[in-house]
Amino acid sequence: MSDYDFDVIVIGAGPGGYVAAIRAAQLGLRTACVESRETLGGTCLNVGCIPSKAMLHASELYDEAASGKLAKLGIKAQVELDLDTMHAQRRDAVKGLTGGIEFLFKKNKVEWLKGHAAFTGKDTIDVAGKSYRARNIVVATGSNVTPLPGVEIDEKVVVSSTGALELAKVPGHLVVIGGGVIGLELGSVWKRLGAKVTVVEFLDQLLPGMDGEIRKEAAKIFKKQGIELKLSTKVTGVAVKGGKATVTVEPAAGGAAETLEADAVLVSIGRRPNTEGLALERAGLTVNKRGQIEVDHDFATGVPGIWAIGDVVPGPMLAHKAEDEGIAVAENIAGLTGIVNHDVIPGVVYTMPEIAGVGLTEEEAKERGEVKVGKFPMLANSRAKTNHEPEGFVKVIADAKTDRVLGVHIIASVAGTMIAQAAQAMEFGATSEDIAYTCHAHPTHSEAIKEAAMAVTGKPIHM
Ligand SMILES: Cc1cc2nc3c(=O)[nH]c(=O)nc-3n(C[C@H](O)[C@H](O)[C@H](O)COP(=O)(O)OP(=O)(O)OC[C@H]3O[C@@H](n4cnc5c(N)ncnc54)[C@H](O)[C@@H]3O)c2cc1C
Repeated sequence: MSDYDFDVIVIGAGPGGYVAAIRAAQLGLRTACVESRETLGGTCLNVGCIPSKAMLHASELYDEAASGKLAKLGIKAQVELDLDTMHAQRRDAVKGLTGGIEFLFKKNKVEWLKGHAAFTGKDTIDVAGKSYRARNIVVATGSNVTPLPGVEIDEKVVVSSTGALELAKVPGHLVVIGGGVIGLELGSVWKRLGAKVTVVEFLDQLLPGMDGEIRKEAAKIFKKQGIELKLSTKVTGVAVKGGKATVTVEPAAGGAAETLEADAVLVSIGRRPNTEGLALERAGLTVNKRGQIEVDHDFATGVPGIWAIGDVVPGPMLAHKAEDEGIAVAENIAGLTGIVNHDVIPGVVYTMPEIAGVGLTEEEAKERGEVKVGKFPMLANSRAKTNHEPEGFVKVIADAKTDRVLGVHIIASVAGTMIAQAAQAMEFGATSEDIAYTCHAHPTHSEAIKEAAMAVTGKPIHM
């Protein structure tokens, strides 16, 4: 008998951790997963991807009915918002999916150690006063909200994304600090439900990190939807009094300050890796300047037997990236070859229209060499036009010499679904010609990807 309690202990049951634990158990390793939350699934299932999409979906339907979009299709309805029921269906979605992970743990014989884990040595951790020893420990503790210095989040008037999912009534005016993915998604939810929404962004454009042309187009679309954008603007203070907030802003480059009166303020300036209370030093682990645990290509840390994945390690903070790393790390622990291609991780903003990208932006691609770019507007796509969803475009960026696809960027109502084929094509090393000569079903939004690929060499049909 070995004196290890487990072959693998995973700390954190988010999409990185729970997937790693299940895969490790599937590979025959005695596995436990520590989670301090009441439910499994991490940020993603409890307060992130899933509840935000529940509110985005419901608010989108409400908006379609309330704004008269459905009436234009011949569907007349008297519409009334029942926010309590909308929140209840969000909670139901979370309950169902987090419960599903608990079922999968039982099915795969992953033991859930309930409580907060802290290292007591290189191969030992303490959970709720009990010590556990494992041959391998995977740190998958995720991330939490980055605070804005000087601004206190009370989750009532000044909220993080978690509080913004749960507002008990539609705020008259919501000020969103940060024009990134989370701010725009949750800002869209409350705008559709009737709030006035102002997004304050320090940079001169929304959606940092995304393709430049996409960022500009997205800003145009959000403005058209009535979301007020204050770009190149910094927040210098938030004062709360009598259940309301006064937000002080000034031009990022300096200049006269102004104030915005708000019923709610969402602080969404980013997320930071979560290593709080883990006592990493007792295991000999350190973090880099950004608070992340550095890992090698196999997700091994500098300490043999300790691995790390997901939001706590460098790379985009995305659930699917964490999941893929979870599978890879388990396979590496089991002696197989687990690889994640970090060059092909799609990113999606689930607004309406959706915004998605994979691979290099045009700016990044041009820095590396000569490129050819093909674009196709959704307005010229028969399905999008028929569905009254004409906004956006598809852009395919290919290497000028080899024609290999380097990046695909999309704004379209179903961009999040469309981007999967671009990711798969890139994973297989496709050229723009490969995509252009792939038969796409008609009428689908995805035909716009084919046409954009054709446009790389100047030959789209419907434009
Ligand atoms: C509002 C919002 C919307 C989002 N939407 C999307 C989206 O649409 N698509 C997408 O890809 N990503 C989205 N994300 C990001 C996504 O949620 C994260 O990238 C993902 O959850 C990271 O997974 P993870 O496993 O690394 O960590 P997490 O999901 O953060 O899970 C880590 C878990 O570890 C637990 N934990 C931490 N420390 C300890 C400890 N010491 N002991 C025990 N347990 C511990 C935590 O309680 C947590 O449950 C969203 C995030 C937010 C906030």
